[in-house]
Amino acid sequence: MKMEKINGSESDKKAGKRYGENSGNPVIIAGPCSAESPEQMLEAANAMKLGGNVDYFRAGLWKPRTSPDSFQGVGAGGLKWLREVKQETGMKVATEVGCEKHALEALKYDIDLLWIGARTVSNPFVVQEIAEALRGVDIPVLVKNPLNPDLELWYGAIARFMKLGIKEVGAIHRGFSLWGKSIYRNPPIWKIQRSLQERLPGILMVCDPSHIAGKRSLVPLVSRKAMEEGANGLMIEVHPDPANAMSDAPQQLNPSSFYDMIRDMDLERSLSAADEDPLIDELTSEMDQVDELLVHTIASRMELSRQIARMKNSDRLRDLQPANLEKALERLHGLASEDGLRPDFVHRLFDEIQRESCHVQSSCPGVFNK
Ligand code: PEP
Ligand code: MN
Repeated sequence: MKMEKINGSESDKKAGKRYGENSGNPVIIAGPCSAESPEQMLEAANAMKLGGNVDYFRAGLWKPRTSPDSFQGVGAGGLKWLREVKQETGMKVATEVGCEKHALEALKYDIDLLWIGARTVSNPFVVQEIAEALRGVDIPVLVKNPLNPDLELWYGAIARFMKLGIKEVGAIHRGFSLWGKSIYRNPPIWKIQRSLQERLPGILMVCDPSHIAGKRSLVPLVSRKAMEEGANGLMIEVHPDPANAMSDAPQQLNPSSFYDMIRDMDLERSLSAADEDPLIDELTSEMDQVDELLVHTIASRMELSRQIARMKNSDRLRDLQPANLEKALERLHGLASEDGLRPDFVHRLFDEIQRESCHVQSSCPGVFNK
């Protein structure tokens, strides 16, 4: 991949265009979640050469897993497999580094792009150490968002690399670890992605739909949405045999679904405004997903009402309800108008939710009929 694909060609820059934004070709980073064996790496890389316009082949060597009993990655031993991929296929290669030692080892093996994982980004000491180890290098370093939705922490980690003279610093939006049920493994927050792009105009913004979605069926949908939201790259987990992958099996695509997805996205980009039917279908299906999320969210709220009802006596509950509604509406009106919702709609919606909540509470055994 040409360097200009990261930062935009000189003519694009002169024309004030940000590379890849909706119209240009996105930077594509694809490959398995984890390196597992030299054979699996070559099989995956050869498949990535065949289709999907891949710019960088990815594979994780040091895996930051939640449980100590899960596969922890092959470690530094996989660096020579990545080098082999580079030599055999001519592709550029990328991996995650989680500490200074990983970064120094990766540099010894001529890795072409490094990324910093979501768990690492939350620790400024470690980020600073990695940035020092990479001082002045001219390979791209991409910084994932931290697990929690903290724009300042994400921005701060990126700034540490920029301050030390790393020339190509980009960001990866991989969604956030949020409380509550969701159709996503790590729900995306497009507003945070946009805010980071506003603070760092022209930054390469890669979206990682695999870690956002958590399941392969959702990956194409999230990828399209990411491009609409102004991402100019995608990092996608692709495995030759996803069902038997040693990590993140449910979210990895097989090579042929990956090619199909990239081909469909290319087609969509070239669709004329008069030929929008496939996009309308996609949007409708995204709306269905949001509707499911709404139902889960309302159900969680009713469960909270039930728990409160079990803890309070009936007189206290009667007193609490109108006051709660007033306070909630005040807070929510502000939020809603920021998001372009009409205040009277928000009022009607929460009136209805509150009515149902009263019903749920009064049907709890022992409440209002003591
Ligand atoms: C990964 O890219 O495989 C990974 C571990 O990602 P994250 O840091 O986003 O969880
Ligand atoms: Mn993964």
